Amino acid sequence: MIIQLKNGITPEQKDEIINKLHSINYSANEVTTQIGSYLIGIGKLNFDIRELGFMPGISDIHIVSDNYKLVSRKWKVSPTMIDLGDGISIGENNFSIMAGPCSIEGEENIQSTLEHLKKNNVRIMRGGVYKPRSSPYSFRGLGLDGLKIWYKLAREAGIKIITEVMQVSQIEPMYDYIDIYQVGARNTQNFNLLDELGKIDKPVMIKRGISGTIDELLYSAEYVFSGGNEKLILCERGIRTYEKASRNTLDLNAIPILKEKTHLPVISDPSHGIGIRDHVLPMSLASIMAGADGIMVEVHQRPEKAYSDGQQTLDYNEAVDLYESARKTYNLRRSL
Ligand code: PEP
Ligand code: MN
Repeated sequence: MIIQLKNGITPEQKDEIINKLHSINYSANEVTTQIGSYLIGIGKLNFDIRELGFMPGISDIHIVSDNYKLVSRKWKVSPTMIDLGDGISIGENNFSIMAGPCSIEGEENIQSTLEHLKKNNVRIMRGGVYKPRSSPYSFRGLGLDGLKIWYKLAREAGIKIITEVMQVSQIEPMYDYIDIYQVGARNTQNFNLLDELGKIDKPVMIKRGISGTIDELLYSAEYVFSGGNEKLILCERGIRTYEKASRNTLDLNAIPILKEKTHLPVISDPSHGIGIRDHVLPMSLASIMAGADGIMVEVHQRPEKAYSDGQQTLDYNEAVDLYESARKTYNLRRSL
């Protein structure tokens, strides 16, 4: 059960509601986000909801049968929009493209990517400065120094930054230089990281775990929301299956299922999802038709020279084709 509290609720009124919940054997979890205050009641529905309905301080009560509550669409039917400022937002009625290299490689790489994105009206640049690599000997990113250069150049270009945060200690130093924290597939169930991201006022995009179920992704989002941050985006990036012909199996099923289960925006990452450059375009279009609110793709001026993930990275010409087809496909879906 989600109890939405009124803005001006007094501490006494809140205590009364909590006592009432305890008296009917419900636990009461207080959640205060940038947008609202809630009490999440967990228990068995064997009481008359009208007993609560009359209590002062309550603006609405929702019975949510899902085990995750705040991210469920069962109480919030209207889709969540994430406003990044400067006219850029993510979610329903907006098609988002996040593009850039797998790893941020240096000033020339940043400048070249920004110019390419600007020319093509792509407003969000992706790229890792902290890279989770399977081998410790692979390139592991430029770190905070690289991020600061990127931030300066991206601000000049009017482009927003999404980049991966790998551990709690990076959250604070990164805060001033990014627009969206990305939680990578290897960290989807790093609950300490999720708890800490709940305490900040910046959007967070959570990728689906490599072997994670759809529900597990929703629970991860619930961690951040219940921690106090409801600026959330979800990302399907492929799961590990028995199939070896592709890097991962982009789970297109997850897109309409997530859109039905949650009010949060859903982004698809076909670059990691299939891992094969030539197939990133069709999988992007398929994701859009399946209901994705946007796509994240890896793009590089010379993919064959990229420090990481070159095999799945588009060159600029391929990327331009993709942006155009993706926008057309989004408009087509909306017109159906
Ligand atoms: C990435 O987007 O840079 C990345 C590492 O993706 P994932 O966490 O999905 O593997
Ligand atoms: Mn990559």
